[in-house]
Amino acid sequence: MREFTDLSALALNTATLGHNLEGQGAGWPPERVIDACAERGFGGIVFWRREVGNRAAELGERVRAAGMTVAGLCRTPYLTGRDSEGWSDGARASVDMAAALGAEVLTIVTGGTQPGTKGLADTQKVLAGRVADLAVHAAEAGVKLALEPLNPMFGGNRTCIFTVAEALEICDLVGAPNVGVAVDVYHVWWDSALTRSLERARGRILGFHLCDWLEDTRDMLLDRGMMGDGVADLRAIRAAVEGAGYRGPCEVEVFSARDWWLRPPDEALDAAADRFRRVC
Ligand code: ZN
Repeated sequence: MREFTDLSALALNTATLGHNLEGQGAGWPPERVIDACAERGFGGIVFWRREVGNRAAELGERVRAAGMTVAGLCRTPYLTGRDSEGWSDGARASVDMAAALGAEVLTIVTGGTQPGTKGLADTQKVLAGRVADLAVHAAEAGVKLALEPLNPMFGGNRTCIFTVAEALEICDLVGAPNVGVAVDVYHVWWDSALTRSLERARGRILGFHLCDWLEDTRDMLLDRGMMGDGVADLRAIRAAVEGAGYRGPCEVEVFSARDWWLRPPDEALDAAADRFRRVC
């Protein structure tokens, strides 16, 4: 497992400051986020599309000028489920935005069960076809696609893949070299087969997301814990992720409408840096 002597492996997902949702967080402009991360020695930033708008190239340059990388972009619109109508144009536009930012990885949260179907099998087939289609455009743009499995409680309206093993099955069906998985501790910490699945993911892990699972979670979407405040075995998961060859950024991603988003952003950034050093 890597030993970190500085924060160059740490990336901020701006959702940690509430910037993934309108009206949440302190509403810092991207430039202020970039400066605050650079001052602390973070290695990268992951933006959400709503912050980037038509300024992708400009913001990417700004991040690199500050000595960091754009570690990724969140995320495609849903590819399946009731909200996936017109998915192709939106997904291609998000690939183009990632390319303009200079972001190596675009995250895919799949979307839920297809209208008119039940369960997951039919939807997963649709998903594989759509990811294969998008992967061609992404390859032309030099962008990798990271399928992020979500905790099963997000089944129905947000995802049709619940585990790293299921994400790898989609990768196998797609068979494209620029498609892999994102491992988010919030979504996978409970999975007793995780270590075995990660062994199979060698060479296909494109992202590693950090937060914690609070013992008494109050909101399944927006009550993530800061690393160390919950019950996920963060070091064991990182050991397994790195045992599978992952050497990329560790991305702190704390959706926390009731706690961290109410605090000054500097406090959240300092806590992320401190916890990364001590408990991850
Ligand atoms: Zn994530």
